[in-house]
Amino acid sequence: MQTKLLINGQLIAGEGPSIAVLNPSLGTALVEIPEASAAQVDAAVRAADNAFAQWSQTSPKDRSTLLLKLADAIDAHAEELARLESQNCGKPFTAALNDELPAIADVFRFFAGASRCMSGSAAGEYLPGHTSMIRRDPVGVVASIAPWNYPLMMAAWKLGPALAAGNTVVLKPSEQTPLTALKLAEFIADIFPAGVVNMVFGRGPSVGEPLVTHPKVRMVSLTGSVATGSRIISGTADSVKRMHMELGGKAPVIIFDDADIDAAVEGIRTFGFYNAGQDCTAACRIYAQKGIYEQFVAKLGEAVSTIQPGLQDDPTTELGPLITEQHLERVEGFVQRASALPHIQVVTGGHRVDGPGFFFQPTVLAGARQDDEIVRREVFGPVVSVTAFDEEEQVLGWANDSDYGLASSVWTSDVGRAHRLSARLQYGCTWVNTHFMLTSEMPHGGVKHSGYGKDMSMYGLEDYTAVRHVMFKH
Ligand code: NAD
Repeated sequence: MQTKLLINGQLIAGEGPSIAVLNPSLGTALVEIPEASAAQVDAAVRAADNAFAQWSQTSPKDRSTLLLKLADAIDAHAEELARLESQNCGKPFTAALNDELPAIADVFRFFAGASRCMSGSAAGEYLPGHTSMIRRDPVGVVASIAPWNYPLMMAAWKLGPALAAGNTVVLKPSEQTPLTALKLAEFIADIFPAGVVNMVFGRGPSVGEPLVTHPKVRMVSLTGSVATGSRIISGTADSVKRMHMELGGKAPVIIFDDADIDAAVEGIRTFGFYNAGQDCTAACRIYAQKGIYEQFVAKLGEAVSTIQPGLQDDPTTELGPLITEQHLERVEGFVQRASALPHIQVVTGGHRVDGPGFFFQPTVLAGARQDDEIVRREVFGPVVSVTAFDEEEQVLGWANDSDYGLASSVWTSDVGRAHRLSARLQYGCTWVNTHFMLTSEMPHGGVKHSGYGKDMSMYGLEDYTAVRHVMFKH
């Protein structure tokens, strides 16, 4: 198992205290890995800073070639990476192999192409006797901080656009799930010039904080919780670093009487419970119109009760564990508090699964009201709430009445209504008659407390560049 840090092209052991990395399906340690010391964090940032001068001057074509090589290396080691990811997250191996790994390689391929297709406004004589042109140049050293839910995918979302744009990077994967990113470091060491990509391992306070506050870091890119995002923003305010924040979500799913109910049930069974609901876009806050509410709740309860929890290597497993004991307790707490309310019905699930590992039953809570905690706060587990609504304006108000603004969906057969709502929902993404689907060409990112900055797409690439004006006097 690759457990070393990557600093200036060298794989070296961390010199800080060791942390146990667990398999959450069993609750047992897979390995102990030493964190980066303060001196190693500093060395990683300095290596990235030193590499910037040359890397930022490489041609898009050359950067593209290396990104394509990295994508090929990921394809060639897909089984090994999927095995590591599934062990470290408890997620089904087949999902990691067939859903995540191809999408991860595709992100690098997309940005390999995108780096050669940067566009901008026309150069011209906007002042008589002067020619103006726009440049998009790399920002500098990017500190990238990733979460535990899709560890390698999040590393790809961070590295792809940053490198394509000509930045250098110090990446910190989550201390809970570093194994695939550290394996990726091995390929990166072979492919990229020393210092262009560096990787450090460790916890937020001991490694993340010295990294993001380092004076040589010009941009911080975080995917994580709102609390971590606002802590980083306030902790770095005096050095005015560029920020790219992908924070939490609480996606509203609006199902009208005229929707295809079976498709909606199937969609929520899949997209509310994928990755055990540990997904910032999870279809978790359901609003069902009065005419179909009873029928919908009954069908959803039945469908969700068939979701199969299990170990990552069992091909029949649909639902893995939560990431830690602490997170299991948090999810259980949300469900217990909701279930104690007299108006809430536990349609299915509601409890942790007996046995080792951090499993929670797939759960549907019906009768939820707009002001309930279960409707307002991000649970990040296999738990969905269902709330009945009367009409369009009411549900639009409820859907937008949230601190979050990442993802939403509308289920209806009325095209006009779908357009009307898509135009007025305050979310980075609205799906119609589906949920959760992402593609490298389209942006992913939020509004409100869900953050700012886009992952994937040309917008993602632009986020990792600075727009500059160059003017020539004739
Ligand atoms: P988290 O905020 O606890 O941790 C995220 C990362 O930040 C980890 O690597 C952690 O070590 C690091 N970190 C923590 N404190 C830090 C500090 N002070 N300075 C620097 N780094 C620090 O989040 P998590 O529990 O790993 O992930 C779950 C959260 O991520 C959820 O809220 C989820 O919605 C969000 N998420 C958002 C998206 C998105 O695209 N918007 C995608 C996935 C997950």
